[in-house]
Amino acid sequence: MGYDVTRFQGDVDEDLICPICSGVLEEPVQAPHCEHAFCNACITQWFSQQQTCPVDRSVVTVAHLRPVPRIMRNMLSKLQIACDNAVFGCSAVVRLDNLMSHLSDCEHNPKRPVTCEQGCGLEMPKDELPNHNCIKHLRSVVQQQQTRIAELEKTSAEHKHQLAEQTEARHPAAKGIHACNPQCQPQPSEPGGDN
Ligand SMILES: [Zn+2]
Ligand SMILES: [Zn+2]
Ligand SMILES: [Zn+2]
Ligand SMILES: [Zn+2]
Repeated sequence: MGYDVTRFQGDVDEDLICPICSGVLEEPVQAPHCEHAFCNACITQWFSQQQTCPVDRSVVTVAHLRPVPRIMRNMLSKLQIACDNAVFGCSAVVRLDNLMSHLSDCEHNPKRPVTCEQGCGLEMPKDELPNHNCIKHLRSVVQQQQTRIAELEKTSAEHKHQLAEQTEARHPAAKGIHACNPQCQPQPSEPGGDN
């Protein structure tokens, strides 16, 4: 789908308009012989119905499509377009080839990540900030941590139990004193050792 013509400053040359969506060409491609140009997405969708040029009905397939000439790409890239977030208060008008980089850090983008400054420090899309509640967020963090602690305690208890069992299996005489360090353990019963 092309860009809405009303977003552009000044008149847009009609060669830069997609005949399918009537918007300004987005990722344009052209048919080889008639040289009609379309948005890549528009013509791809059109071809799923019929393999012809939508303007003059000559036979064209996806394989025939070519990039548009450089002069056309240059004309497109110089067009001045209003930011997608104009409805959210952005007044920026940028060159079409700079639109993507503007959008990636447009302050008015409702999905731009912002950090809660009420104290919890959570990062969230800007449009979620008005409904954000620090206590609710922090409570869920605490709950997650409690679950994690409970899991760790369980694993730790299991490990202790296993260790105790192993120690007892190796040193039956040491039953009950497996916390002792190796030096103070009673001598293991040596073969023929009763001296
Ligand atoms: Zn189009
Ligand atoms: Zn054509
Ligand atoms: Zn903007
Ligand atoms: Zn918060």
